[in-house]
Amino acid sequence: MNEKDTLRHQGQRNQLINLVRRKGIKDDNVLNAMNNVPRHLFLDSSFEAHAYQDKAFRIAADQTISQPYTVAKQSELLNVKFGDKVLEIGTGSGYQASVLIEMGIEVYTIERQRELYDITKNLLRNLRYQPKRMVYGDGYKGLPNDAPFDGIVVTAGAPFIPNELLKQLKIGATLVIPVGEENEGMIMTTIKRKSAKEFVKKKHGDFRFVPMLKDTEN
Ligand code: SAH
Repeated sequence: MNEKDTLRHQGQRNQLINLVRRKGIKDDNVLNAMNNVPRHLFLDSSFEAHAYQDKAFRIAADQTISQPYTVAKQSELLNVKFGDKVLEIGTGSGYQASVLIEMGIEVYTIERQRELYDITKNLLRNLRYQPKRMVYGDGYKGLPNDAPFDGIVVTAGAPFIPNELLKQLKIGATLVIPVGEENEGMIMTTIKRKSAKEFVKKKHGDFRFVPMLKDTEN
């Protein structure tokens, strides 16, 4: 790592994690991982002061790094363990992917914006948070050749639940996806695959996300 994680950063991070815990996140694997990932290195250094607030923030290509509470919630809802294989749709800053990697998860991640894909690929290499695969492409299609997955997390707001992603879940695995139209609230939704044909859907409250868009953008 060529950038710095100082005691001050660690102290701020600790306070942020305590806040996230107070907001209702219970999974210690998630909280410990978030306590280890230097979120300030995922923002442009001039915005470093925002890194340890519980807020989403603008990054390149008009996208956002998700709010810490949201990352914690999605990671918890995935219900995965060390060594599991997870597909993430919407690499963005790479922060959510890094939290999962820190939890010992094998991460496959897809980003549709070329600029972000390139920047984040470099950053993750520097930080030594290496996903198993990083793909520039359209997340609606998932990664059929790498499926099935122990969990799938969509980090953009989807107008509907993509069938292709349901097909790529192992039996017992969960898809975590915010569902709703742009500019309206999105509802955090989980769909657990009980058997080949049986899926159980649950709702987990309102969240805000940038929209999940079709195809790729150069
Ligand atoms: N997980 C990210 C959140 C980034 S915001 C983080 O931790 O920072 C959501 C991201 O989803 C954006 O980068 C956006 O470009 C991407 N995205 C939107 N639609 C997509 C799609 N169909 N396929 C892949 N990525 C998509």
